[in-house]
Amino acid sequence: MTSPTDQYDLATRAVRGGTERSHFGEHSEALFLTSSFVFETAEQAAARFSGEQDGFVYSRFSNPTVRMFEQRLAALEGAEDCLATASGMAAILAVCLATLRAGDHVLCGANVFGATVQLFSSLLSRFGVETSFVDGADPAAWRAAAMPRTRLLFCETPSNPLMELTDLRAFVALGRELGATTVVDNCFCTPALQRPLDFGVDVVIHSATKYLDGQGRVLGGAVLGRRAFIRDELLPVLRTAGPSLSPFNAWVLLKGLETLPLRMRAQSQAATELAAWLAEQPAVKRVYFPGLPSHPQFELAQRQQFGPGAVVSFELKGASPEDLRRRAWRLIDGVRLMSITANLGDTRTTITHPATTTHGRLSAQARERAGITEGLVRISVGLESVADLKRDLAQAFER
Ligand SMILES: *Cc1c(COP(=O)(O)O)cnc(C)c1O
Repeated sequence: MTSPTDQYDLATRAVRGGTERSHFGEHSEALFLTSSFVFETAEQAAARFSGEQDGFVYSRFSNPTVRMFEQRLAALEGAEDCLATASGMAAILAVCLATLRAGDHVLCGANVFGATVQLFSSLLSRFGVETSFVDGADPAAWRAAAMPRTRLLFCETPSNPLMELTDLRAFVALGRELGATTVVDNCFCTPALQRPLDFGVDVVIHSATKYLDGQGRVLGGAVLGRRAFIRDELLPVLRTAGPSLSPFNAWVLLKGLETLPLRMRAQSQAATELAAWLAEQPAVKRVYFPGLPSHPQFELAQRQQFGPGAVVSFELKGASPEDLRRRAWRLIDGVRLMSITANLGDTRTTITHPATTTHGRLSAQARERAGITEGLVRISVGLESVADLKRDLAQAFER
C-alpha cells in the first residue's frame, strides 16, 4: 500500500495521496457506490473470499473509494496501513474488540471524549473488561494505576474540552514496559499538527467526523498502525462486526483531506488570537488553550505538536454551579454568528456547554473527575474572520 506520494510533503500528500484511477482515467477520485463486486469465474470468487487473491469482494470488507481514503490518511499519519470505520466511536470499539478479552485491564485518560468514557465504563465492563481512569496529564498517575493484566493504554491529546496533553514519550515507554497496546485519539490535532506514530505509539484512531471532513457533513472514523495489526487483528473484526465506512462518506472525506493542512494552520492561528483575547475578558476566569504560554503544558505542546489546534475552552466567573450554568447559557444564547452545536472541527465556529451536552450523560461524579464545570464553555474556531468572532463574543458578553 505504499503510495508513490510518500516522498512528498504533507500538503502534497493531502491532495494526491492514495489516489487510484479506474480504466476510465478520471481525474477526481471515483465514487464506487456498490455493495458487492462481480467475479469472472467461480474459482476467482473462491480465491477472493479465501484471501488467496487480492481484490474487492463486498463493501463491508473493503471498497475502492474507502481504500483511497484509507491510503491518503495513512500517507498523512505516516502509518503502514489504515482501516476506515463508520464513526470515531466505531474505530475505538473495533480496536477494543481486536485487542481485549474478559479479564483484561485498560488504562484510560479521565479527560477523554464523553462517549469513550461511557464505552469503557458502562459497555466493556459488562464483558469483563475493567478500566481505570487516570489523570491523562500526569505520567505518574498512569504508572501508579498500571497492573500486570493491563492490555491497553488509551489517551486523547489534547483532550476535549480541557485541552490537557498526555506526554506521548512517557505514554509509549509505559506501554512497552507493560507489553500493552498504546492507542491515541488524534482527533483534535489531526496529522497536520501531530503524528503520534512517530513517537512509537502503536495505534492512532480518528473521528473523521471532525477536522478530517472539516465541513460537518458526514460521520466517519479510522484506525491506523502497523500492517500486521491492521490486516490480521483489525480487519477480521470489521469483516465480522460490520462497523464499516460508507463509500459515499469516504468520498466526502477524501475531498476534506485535501484542504486539511491549510485549514488546520488557519484555524490554529485564529484560535490562538481568540484565546489571547478571551484571557483578557473580565467575565472570564480561565482559558484552556495549549497555544497560550499560561497553559501548564505549553512547552510539551511545543515539543509534541506542530500547532496548538483550534479548540478553545474557558471558564466563566460565577458564584455557584447554578449561577455558572445560567451565565454560560446566557453567553451561548447571546452569540449571533457562532453556531450552537456540539460538533467541532467545522469551518464554521461552534460554541457549546460541555456539562449539559457532550458530557451530559456522565454522572456528576465522573464530570467532576473530568473537570467539566457548569461555567465551562467550549469554542471550536472555524474559518470566519477572527475580528467578527471577537465582535460576536463581545456583544454576547455585554448582555
Ligand atoms: C467526536 C469524537 C469522537 C467520536 O467520534 P464520532 O465520529 O462522533 O463517533 C471520539 N473522540 C473525540 C476526541 C471526538 O471529538
